[in-house]
Amino acid sequence: MSCSRRDLLIGTGAIIFTTGITSVAASVSSKTLTATMSDGKKRYGMVFDSSACIGCTKCEEACRETNNVPDGVSRLEIIRSAPIGEHPDVTYRFDRNSCQHCDNAPCVHVCPTGAAYKDEATGIIDVESDKCVGCGYCLAACPYQVRFFHPETGSADKCNFCRDTNLKAGKLPACVLSCPTNALVFGDLNDPNSEINKVIANNSVYRNKVELGTQPKLYKIVDGKGEIQR
Ligand code: SF4
Ligand code: SF4
Ligand code: SF4
Repeated sequence: MSCSRRDLLIGTGAIIFTTGITSVAASVSSKTLTATMSDGKKRYGMVFDSSACIGCTKCEEACRETNNVPDGVSRLEIIRSAPIGEHPDVTYRFDRNSCQHCDNAPCVHVCPTGAAYKDEATGIIDVESDKCVGCGYCLAACPYQVRFFHPETGSADKCNFCRDTNLKAGKLPACVLSCPTNALVFGDLNDPNSEINKVIANNSVYRNKVELGTQPKLYKIVDGKGEIQR
C-alpha cells in the first residue's frame, strides 16, 4: 500500500485523514477542536480490525524498522489463532498485542522515577529512557505484558504510537501506514469528527481487560470467525 494513501497532515490547526477504505476525509479546524474538546488536548487511540487482518505481519516489520526495535524484542505482536475449520477450508483469526495506552496506566503508577509517564498533550503513554533505572516494576505491573527491556539502552520500552518517529514527522504510525488491508485506524478520541470515533461508533468493538479499570485506548473489531479470546 502506498503510504501516501493515508497521510496524517498536521498543519496550522488542521488534521486531515484520508483512507483507502472509507474515503473519509475529515478536516477539523482548531476553532472546532477548541469548541468540541473539553480540555483542548488530544487523546490518541487505535482500532485494530481483526476481521480485516490477514496476518501478513507487515505492521511488525514496519514498527521494527521505523523505531529501531532490535531482534528478540517487539513493540507489536500479531498472534495467530489455532486453525478454524477442517482441511481444506481452514482459516485463522488474528489478534494484535501492543501497548493499550491506558488512561489509567498501572505502569505509570508504579514507576519510582517518572520514566514511565503519560504525555498529557496526546494521552500517549511513553518512556523517558534516561530516567529508567531498570527496576522492572512497570513490566510486572502491566496487565497486557507488552513492556520489555531494550537490549541496547537497558530502558523499559514499548509502543509509543511512534510519538518520536512518525508522529513527530506528521505521519501516521508506521504500523498503520504499512497495513495492506487497512486493518488499523489511528486518531484522536477527543475529536467527535475523527475517523477513529466513526469506526468505533459503526462497528462492534471491544477492549481487553477493561474490568481492571485501566481504561485502554486500543479498540478491537471482532472477527466473525471462531471464539473470541481476550
Ligand atoms: S498496556 Fe501496559 S505498558 Fe501500555 S499503558 Fe497499559 S499498563 Fe502501561
Ligand atoms: S523499569 Fe524503568 S520505566 Fe519501568 S518502573 Fe522501573 S524505572 Fe520506571
Ligand atoms: S504505533 Fe508505532 S510503535 Fe506502536 S506498534 Fe505501531 S509502529 Fe510500533
